[in-house]
Amino acid sequence: MEESGVDTLLVSIGADLPWLTGYEAMPLERLTMLVVPRDGTATLVVPRLEVPRVTERPDVFAIRAWDEHHDPLDVVAELAGPTSVAAVSDRTWALFLIGLLQRMPGTEFRSAGEVLAPLRAVKGPDEVAALRRAAEAVDRIAAALQAGEIPLVGRTEAEVSADLGRRIRAEGHSRVNFAIVAAGENAASPHHEPGPRVIGPDEVVLCDFGGTMPTADGTGYCSDITRCVYTGEPPSEFAELYAVLLHAQQASVASALVGTPCEAVDAVARDHIAAAGHGDQFVHRTGHGIGVEEHEDPYIVAGNSTPLRPGHAFSIEPGIYVTGRWGARLEDIVVATPDGPDALNRADHRLAVVER
Ligand code: ZN
Ligand code: ZN
Ligand code: ZN
Repeated sequence: MEESGVDTLLVSIGADLPWLTGYEAMPLERLTMLVVPRDGTATLVVPRLEVPRVTERPDVFAIRAWDEHHDPLDVVAELAGPTSVAAVSDRTWALFLIGLLQRMPGTEFRSAGEVLAPLRAVKGPDEVAALRRAAEAVDRIAAALQAGEIPLVGRTEAEVSADLGRRIRAEGHSRVNFAIVAAGENAASPHHEPGPRVIGPDEVVLCDFGGTMPTADGTGYCSDITRCVYTGEPPSEFAELYAVLLHAQQASVASALVGTPCEAVDAVARDHIAAAGHGDQFVHRTGHGIGVEEHEDPYIVAGNSTPLRPGHAFSIEPGIYVTGRWGARLEDIVVATPDGPDALNRADHRLAVVER
């Protein structure tokens, strides 16, 4: 906060609050907000009826309950006191920010992401261990998929997605964040919504899934993996496309050394895919940071010159999408370490062939 010139940090719903306090606020019209002065005690302003859900941590924050007939924004403004610069967490409802703008007229408001995003992006050893546990869990599901233990042909994408979701929970996640199943031409849509389409023989099935693995301190860390399987022997054209993707992904992972700018890691995957003639079919960034949220800093994207630091955790997930025909993506979570990139996902990277 001192480096950013921020006097008061105001943190409402979203992942910042549990990351700081272990408490996850419900997204309600009743305000919950952590007021953090640059010096002094942090105070959690919380609706009185939610207080029983808060695990007290007097070493971290005080609790200030507000009653239904009081205005919590007045409480926040009072706790903030004279403030030149306040930073508000990114997911705070506009309604509350507008109320604060009215109550703190002399204050400059900024995004708390300036302060919190770089802190959250660098994972400590406990956080890396939690990400690794989550990665190992989805690796086992990917292995089952690749071994043909999850039936595909004759089932709908939605059925397979539900199956993946059940397995994500059975592996210890508290939440399923997504389970994309995209067959054949649907694999050309990176965020395809699994639907009633029945999976047939001789087609690609792209599966991108992950959840949140709970930790003892009340937070949770995300998993996120993509693997493709083919229901039959893939045609050589697809096998060639996948070989380009595999090489691009592995080269990009290998390039993720401490000190390397995020955009350079993106460029490794992109240049490789472009050189093979598929440049315009790789329509998204190479990756995203991951932690308590499935997408957070650092983003592996052109224009992000941030150098990788030890503890940065992020996905490397290039894709090649041929509209109306097919597509493929390959995704691992990687942690930058002084000893080089640590790929948390170890499931087989090759295109698996399953029974037709
Ligand atoms: Zn995505
Ligand atoms: Zn993914
Ligand atoms: Zn991802």
